[in-house]
Amino acid sequence: MDHTTFRDFAKAMADYIADYLENIRDRRVLPTVQPGYLRPLIPNDAPESAEPWTDVMKDIERVIMPGVTHWHSPRFHAYFPTANSYPAIVADMLSDAIACIGFTWIASPACTELEVVMLDWLGKLLDLPKEFLACTGGKGGGVIQGTASEATLVALLGAKSKMLAEMKEKKPNADDYDIVSKLVAYASEQAHSSVQRAGLLGGVQFRLIPTDEKHKMQAAPLREAIRKDKEAGLIPFYVVVTLGTTSSCAFDNLADIGPVCREENVWLHIDAAYAGSAFICPEYRHLMEGVEHADSFNFNPHKWLLVTFDCSAMWLKDPSWIVNAFNVDPLYLKHDMQGSAPDYRHWQIPLGRRFRSLKLWFVLRLYGAENLRAHIRKQIGLAHEFEQMVLADSRFELAADVIMALVCFRLKTSNEDNEFLLKMINGNGKIHLVPSKINGTYFLRMAVCSRYTESHDIQGSWREIQAMADRLEKEKAK
Ligand code: PLP
Repeated sequence: MDHTTFRDFAKAMADYIADYLENIRDRRVLPTVQPGYLRPLIPNDAPESAEPWTDVMKDIERVIMPGVTHWHSPRFHAYFPTANSYPAIVADMLSDAIACIGFTWIASPACTELEVVMLDWLGKLLDLPKEFLACTGGKGGGVIQGTASEATLVALLGAKSKMLAEMKEKKPNADDYDIVSKLVAYASEQAHSSVQRAGLLGGVQFRLIPTDEKHKMQAAPLREAIRKDKEAGLIPFYVVVTLGTTSSCAFDNLADIGPVCREENVWLHIDAAYAGSAFICPEYRHLMEGVEHADSFNFNPHKWLLVTFDCSAMWLKDPSWIVNAFNVDPLYLKHDMQGSAPDYRHWQIPLGRRFRSLKLWFVLRLYGAENLRAHIRKQIGLAHEFEQMVLADSRFELAADVIMALVCFRLKTSNEDNEFLLKMINGNGKIHLVPSKINGTYFLRMAVCSRYTESHDIQGSWREIQAMADRLEKEKAK
């Protein structure tokens, strides 16, 4: 493809994208296709000769869109949001054009340096402790990981290398494998599945701590679990605190757990994958009280801060536990400036990395902090509007406190009724929700996901839920 054709193709695609997003309300949020729908729509083999781009454009509506779940529809309320904005889309175009692999500083200095500064900008917007920021000249700093799952694993590996070093200092002849076999990590039973998975991948034992009636991990049961493990000769080394759990957006009691981690000398990692974006608003920062005790902190701007996937922001007070622990330094990756700036290959699991800070830069500049705060506040406001509608219908009840832009609710009757209700809602395809279950109680989750969501969308979604509840009542009465 020559550059003239590229200009035409890219302009047509920009128009297509704007039309798609601006008219996304008109599309059915859940597709009706069956598994295997796509293969018959395209040839069995790759074309031998080049096709015109106009043919490819035509096939987007014919082949792709029938099988797309429209995550940016204001009627999409499943999971947690994934972010989307025009500045981020354009930044990714530029990133794809530069197409550098910024594993070391010299591999593309701008790629590393913009990331260092953007993580400082973002960290300051969240009012993170200064020990996490590179601009203060200490050890700390931030990095963009692909996902929160990677951040949890990287932090666990850092904690493991730190504890191993400390144990070897106390007992130089101790066997590494013996130490590792005794390491124990902890998280709430409501922590995301990726947290437990980090334990499996890191080859350590994981203890899930029961939560209180609000689904939060408290300090006392954690302290007790640590005490028991130490008594049994095990070595507690890593605690994950979740701020905004996936099932119900509960916040672990960081203010009380933080000091326990310090007393017990265990690495404290904070997983604020979804809710972390809200900390750009001062009125939500009380939910991260105790953050000063953390060794690492992570949240996903790609969830709620209008930066497209993938952009998971992670800060470490002392990255050396990761940088030095997994340092394999072949000649072809060495450079003369080593040590003067971060070589991000040491901060992550893969070697290769995209120029992801561009989209953070574009979004922060083209929205400005005040508009990002307005976005968060508006979405939380819409969730509270939905909460009031739930409370006004005596058939329904809330299943958790509404703190962010997630409402957990259920019919007051049985789990089976709620399962059936959800089946009817998703089967109708106008809106999309997913369920969760805590302590045997099944409930529906309504997340405000799309940046296009307005009050009338929330009201429309609620009317659809009520209509399905009416239908369920009629079915039951038959
Ligand atoms: N942690 C929490 C609290 C989450 O809600 C999620 C996903 O929703 C994750 C971790 C995993 O996020 P990622 O897909 O970025 O790994």
